Formats: sequence, structure tokens, C-alpha cells
Amino acid sequence: MFPFELLSSEESAANLLEQVRWREGLCCPRCRSESVIKHGSYREYQRYLCKDCDRTFNDKTGTIFAHAKIGLDKLLFAFYSFLRFNTSIRQLDAEIDVSYRSLRRRVEQFARTLDAPAINLVGPVEIDEFYVSAGKKGRERDQESRSRALSKRGRGTYEGDKPPVFTLVDRGSGQRYVVPAKSTDEATVRLLLDNHEKESLTVYTDGFRAYDPLDDDESFHRESVIHGDGEYVDEDAHVNTCESHASLARRWLSPHRGVSKDKLTAYLRPFQLRRRVLRKPGREALKQIIREVL
Ligand SMILES: [Zn+2]
Repeated sequence: MFPFELLSSEESAANLLEQVRWREGLCCPRCRSESVIKHGSYREYQRYLCKDCDRTFNDKTGTIFAHAKIGLDKLLFAFYSFLRFNTSIRQLDAEIDVSYRSLRRRVEQFARTLDAPAINLVGPVEIDEFYVSAGKKGRERDQESRSRALSKRGRGTYEGDKPPVFTLVDRGSGQRYVVPAKSTDEATVRLLLDNHEKESLTVYTDGFRAYDPLDDDESFHRESVIHGDGEYVDEDAHVNTCESHASLARRWLSPHRGVSKDKLTAYLRPFQLRRRVLRKPGREALKQIIREVL
């Protein structure tokens, strides 16, 4: 259920922020002192005075919500809708009467503020990649023949504006990771898979050569499925979960057509948060969304 009552006015949104932000007690965002007293208000927001550093602050100070021209109720609606309904920023612009540029700036700032997921693999792990059509918005497109020449066996390249995105499914922990990369070389694959504690990590891959070096490495036990080679899914050795997660990630990106490749990381972080808040009641989801960016 959409949390209408929490976002019915800037005042209710301000109350919500106050409640979530100081859930573990008030403290000064500048010097961390807990010696803080209420000190009037700033518009809809409670203002405070720190008795240690003698500075004042309000509920928004030091957060991504500070200095926004857009009211907090509208801003939270935008983040909520972006995340839960997969709404494009163009559409949000139509729903909220604000400038497209400042809305986009705020949504992208929200996305960048989300923590990068820390990869910690238990295993067995499925790893696979997919390629997104991204580029620099407004830049002239590469000629078709050239981009075709760059891609090998249908795989894209970062330079060719089809950057690779790795998906990792850790069957041991249940975690899923979606990590954009500049390359699909051995170093990148190792960087992703080296985050494991066990002596030997079981890794399921397809037949892509970037995974071949894992065969000669004692810290991995690799099993591969060769697609299109008449080989069917061999019990556990498959990357099907990666493939279905990749198709969700593609669907997530699709309303944001033309996301430039240097912004892919920012647009894929909310996708990972989305998985954690999607089935929660609206109130809980909204509170968690705020907590994630404080
Ligand atoms: Zn202080």
C-alpha cells in the first residue's frame, strides 16, 4: 500500500524524516555531540542547537535532502516511485511539477548515495555477463558497421557503448550482485570472484573464454556449461539464475533509455535496493529508502 499519509504534505514528510533520522537519538551532524537542544524551526523542519560546537542545524542538514528546491514530500514520492514502480524520470517530471533537470539531478544523487554492495561470496556461485546499450547521451552514434566489427560473437564492449554488466548469484548466501564493468578480461573476473573466504570456491560459468583461467587456479573449482553446443543443463552446473536476474536488470534499466555508460553503476545500485524493499509494506519500504541514504 502506497504510504499516502506519510507524503500528504511537506510537513508530514518532515515528521517522517525526523523520526527516521534520529531513531537512535539526536546528535550534531558536525561534531557528533549528543548535547543538542531544540532551537526553533526552519520552515517545516525542526531546528537544533549544538551546545558543544554552538552551531545550529535542522532535520535535513548534512543529508541529500538539504538545499533541495523540491519539497521533501515530492522528493520522497519521486524516490519511492522510481524504486518501486520503475518510473522513468521523464514520467516523474510529469507527475511532479518541478524542473526536469533538478529532478534528474536529485534522483541520480539518491542513486549514487546508495552503498555499493560489498561482495562476500560463500558459493557455489553462478557468474555471467550481459551487455547494455548505453552511451553518451546526445553523442553521435557509432556507425553500425563499426560497432558490429567491435563486438565479438555478439558480445559488446565498453568502448563500443555496449558495456558489460556481470551478474553473480551466490547460492550459498542467496545474494545477487549486478556489477557494471569496463572489460570482461581475466583481471575483472578475478576482482569479482576473489571475495571469498573458503579455500576453493565453486563457480558455474558458461563457455566464455574470460572464465578459462579459473580452470588452472586452485582457489576455484569451475564448472562450465557450453551454450549452443548440444549440452543441456547438467544438474547444478548452470547459470540460469544469473540469466533471469539479468533479464530483471534489463527491465529495470529499460525506462531509463540512454543511460550513459558512466552512470550505469548509479542506475544499478537502486536495482539492488529494489529487491530488498519491493515486497515490503509501503511505510516500511519508504522508511528503509530514507535510512539507506542517511
Ligand atoms: Zn556540534
